Amino acid sequence: MNILVVEDEENVASFIKTGLEEESHSVDIAANGKDGFLLASAKDYNLIILDVMLPEIDGLDLCRLLRMKGIHTPVLMLTAKDTVEDKVKGLDSGADDYLTKPFSFEELLARLRALSRRRQFPVEPLRCADLKIDPITRKVTRSDREIYLRPKEFALLEYLLKNKNKALTRTQILQNVWGYNFDPNTNVVDVHINFLRDKIDRDFSKKLIHTVRGIGYVIREDDNNIQA
Ligand code: CA
Repeated sequence: MNILVVEDEENVASFIKTGLEEESHSVDIAANGKDGFLLASAKDYNLIILDVMLPEIDGLDLCRLLRMKGIHTPVLMLTAKDTVEDKVKGLDSGADDYLTKPFSFEELLARLRALSRRRQFPVEPLRCADLKIDPITRKVTRSDREIYLRPKEFALLEYLLKNKNKALTRTQILQNVWGYNFDPNTNVVDVHINFLRDKIDRDFSKKLIHTVRGIGYVIREDDNNIQA
């Protein structure tokens, strides 16, 4: 899953990020409410972990803003407060669940699993020719052979497949897979496209990932079906 963590305490944020990445999730961190709002608006996350006490915009307001904007990504609120009143406030702001600090990572994972089960609409696997990915189990296969991808490779492939047959610019890919504030001169997109080609195309005669000159990349089955 793609998960956004909005948390200003660096050690807590990196504790969560490390743990979730070990579980094969792709994690972005925002260190204040404003950045959290921008990221959550720009990118399609499966879940948001949101601290309540945040600089710029606090977690309760941020959650309200997201809901007002029509963003219904499940939100798990994190906070040091544990009074009933604070929990009610969190849930009233549109959060789906509430976890009090300090918490164990096991509990965080269990809550996330429950949230994604509860809120996930049935998700169809994404396909291109004989390549198939399951966004929930994150299983990737080509010709029924299982392929192991790292979290960013998975996020990149998922984004390409959601936009199958559509030429995507490097900037679009960067913003959607890595987040809006990445250095636009980075070659991280090209590097990861090469990783993906190695894993999903190299051993097959039919190539799926194509370079679109002057634009960027596209995933497609045949040569006559590109929409710019
Ligand atoms: Ca905080």
